[in-house]
Amino acid sequence: MVAKVINGKELSMELKKEIKREVENLHQQNVIPHLTVILVGNNPASRSYVNGKKRASEEVGISSEIIELSESVSEKELLDIIHQLNNNERVHGILVQLPLPEQINVQHVIESIDPKKDVDGFHPVNIGRMMTGQDTFLPCTPYGIIKMLQSKNITIEGKHAVVLGRSNIVGKPVGQLLLNEHATVTYCHSKTKSVTEITKQADILVVAIGRPNAINKEHIKEGAVVIDVGINRLEDGRLTGDVDFESAAELASYITPVPRGVGPMTITMLLHNTLKAAKEMVI
Ligand code: NAP
Repeated sequence: MVAKVINGKELSMELKKEIKREVENLHQQNVIPHLTVILVGNNPASRSYVNGKKRASEEVGISSEIIELSESVSEKELLDIIHQLNNNERVHGILVQLPLPEQINVQHVIESIDPKKDVDGFHPVNIGRMMTGQDTFLPCTPYGIIKMLQSKNITIEGKHAVVLGRSNIVGKPVGQLLLNEHATVTYCHSKTKSVTEITKQADILVVAIGRPNAINKEHIKEGAVVIDVGINRLEDGRLTGDVDFESAAELASYITPVPRGVGPMTITMLLHNTLKAAKEMVI
């Protein structure tokens, strides 16, 4: 293996120390940053993500609560709860864990959250602010990826970044953040022709397709930085990314592992955003 590993777990521990210090400062001003997470239904992966977010919040002194709603909750009931949280001064951040059951329109839910409490950074107001390069809540996974690149002083400016995947929560915003950092960005998706020809041109390759080990050394150029966003559960219970780590690490200059890669950074940037929301309400 030649690639250096960008360890998201270690970086997130460093960032959490800084967040904890700032949270303690707020405590001294009698402000307790508070995150409310809404979990609808009983999806085991969602439940585990939500519990992870609560645990991480507590580690840094952010108070958090999980509101659990049944799988059959109506859109109106959910929107009413969000409305109450928007008006609750004690609540700084609101996160609705996705996916949601089919009777609920996800976009209605995202747009009902006060943009000032939208710590996931999914509200169109915050997405627009991100696109126009203004200060805002950046979506957590893409923001974490930029922090990972910066932590290793990897130059983004002038580089060709290829993003595999165009979801609203990962692919599109990570491409936008790379563009904001002056990369030249190409998106690939399921309808892209000759994907390998494009990925082989990438200086920075971000893979967010949800297909276990789909990308290997055949798809990358020597020296590329490879960021694996995928989280896939194999039949034997192991977690794996979208990138075949062992193979890609033979050619890459830097690579992120799964687990201990992008995942812990996502949660850490959520804490960062909740702290930001609390600080902005104090001002
Ligand atoms: P998603 O909504 O399912 O989107 C997948 C994207 O990949 C789509 O844009 C799809 O194209 C594209 N795609 C699928 N197969 C492809 C292929 N063979 N070549 C090129 N593009 C392809 O997934 P997501 O929510 O973005 O998540 C992606 C992965 O990241 C999943 O494994 C998820 O669990 C993981 N994830 C991890 C974190 C973290 O914190 N590490 C956070 C979020 C998600 P079309 O648009 O044409 O369908």
